[in-house]
Amino acid sequence: MPIATVNPATGEQLKAFDPLSPDQIDQRLARAESGFTALRKTTFAQRAAWMVAAAEILDKELESIATLMTTEMGKTLASAKAEVAKCAKACRYFAEHAQRFLADEPADVAAVGARQAYAIYRPLGAVLAVMPWNFPLWQAMRFAAPALMAGNVGLLKHASNVPQTALFMEELFNRAGFPDGGFQTLLIGADAVEGVLSDPRVKAATLTGSEAAGRSVAAIAGRELKKMVLELGGSDPYVVMPSADIAAAAKVATTARCQNNGQSCIAAKRFIVHSDVYDDFTDAFVAHMNLLTVGDPMDADTDVGPLALRSGRDDVAAQVADAAGKGAAVLCGGEAPEQSGWWYPPTVVADITPDMAMWSDEVFGPVAGLFRANSYEEAIRLANDTTFGLGANAWTNDPAEQERFVNDLDAGMVFINGMVTSYPELPFGGVKHSGYGRELSAHGIREFCNLTSVWVGGPEPTAAGPGAHSE
Ligand code: NAP
Repeated sequence: MPIATVNPATGEQLKAFDPLSPDQIDQRLARAESGFTALRKTTFAQRAAWMVAAAEILDKELESIATLMTTEMGKTLASAKAEVAKCAKACRYFAEHAQRFLADEPADVAAVGARQAYAIYRPLGAVLAVMPWNFPLWQAMRFAAPALMAGNVGLLKHASNVPQTALFMEELFNRAGFPDGGFQTLLIGADAVEGVLSDPRVKAATLTGSEAAGRSVAAIAGRELKKMVLELGGSDPYVVMPSADIAAAAKVATTARCQNNGQSCIAAKRFIVHSDVYDDFTDAFVAHMNLLTVGDPMDADTDVGPLALRSGRDDVAAQVADAAGKGAAVLCGGEAPEQSGWWYPPTVVADITPDMAMWSDEVFGPVAGLFRANSYEEAIRLANDTTFGLGANAWTNDPAEQERFVNDLDAGMVFINGMVTSYPELPFGGVKHSGYGRELSAHGIREFCNLTSVWVGGPEPTAAGPGAHSE
């Protein structure tokens, strides 16, 4: 894929970039190494001050950064602004809590026969982040903020269609005061990832993106024996049971499916509705989907903008056509308009059967699949009948049923009576083909640390003797 900004609302290429040469990549890896030497010697307080400075830049320049993201990948300007604000929040969150999350952990000295025994979290070094375009600032930030606060340095290989947002990330951390080489953007294609990850100066990697990309990069990390976190696709279930508030479930369902123009890993994609409330839910849901305004993503009244890539739009159109051709009912939408740019309308498809691509594949656009369940057991079976296991939503006001859903849904995140959302305070990640490892919260910052056990024996040091602690 060329490294270029192409406005998805019009299909017009606005700016193209040459990928870095092998020499330029080598220079950047050398800078990452010297950046790590500098960063690892800094204190939490110093890094926190730089991270807060980054948050202040984001607050001050929110409008222009949001406009850039909307231009590059078509999300509505309102959602782009919310994304910038969320990034500033994450910077402040990790600035405030990193030291506590990475505090030394004392062990039972008597049990291990030591004078002192504890575990410490040390940074690993340069971490490569391969990131997707759908939340171009947030995906990169939820890696960068904890990684930098832990004392690691970041190397960002962003998706090729968001190069200007990628370059802004490097500029942001430089302007905030982080040492040279602390955070760098590598404008490279997917084919250059193997060389970078195989380089001994790169210690670990994280990838957010498709299952295919995850398998490919994880295979390299496995061969090189490097730690990796994978945040991959999802086909989140959204289960609605008879005791639920159906009106609320139908309204939130619309946002849960169409947020970010339908291109979110944690968007609800399969709506599994109990037969007792199937008709009521479907009528309300389709009515809400029909009310969404599709249009210029820069316009404040727009709910759904274009899809980010022509290939993505074509994939979604093909999935709906496949279902319709095999007997599914298209309850709204279902036709890509004839106009420049990559548009697809909010769509609801019912009567989906296992021979249709929509039964098993992730649909990365504003298209909901509707499924009917006659019992709790059938709802759970349908919800878990997927290779993915990222998030899951269940709507029920029956406390016993809520507990059953929490225990029975195969997912990394279960939300009851609300839509799956990421928060700095909660771990984020999935199981099955949705990946492994966690981002955000204390768990996220510890992923790229060398958890080192320390055991100290021998006599208590005297003021003048060996081992005395010097200031
Ligand atoms: P993608 O094609 O996998 O691209 C993601 C990143 O991986 C891009 O930087 C891409 O570079 C790179 N890449 C692709 N193939 C590669 C390979 N063989 N080797 C090395 N790097 C490779 O995914 P996408 O279409 O941008 O994003 C959509 C997918 O991401 C969906 O499945 C979605 O669910 C998932 N996603 C998951 C999460 C999560 O947190 N779990 C969050 C967001 C999105 P190029 O752009 O240069 O190809």
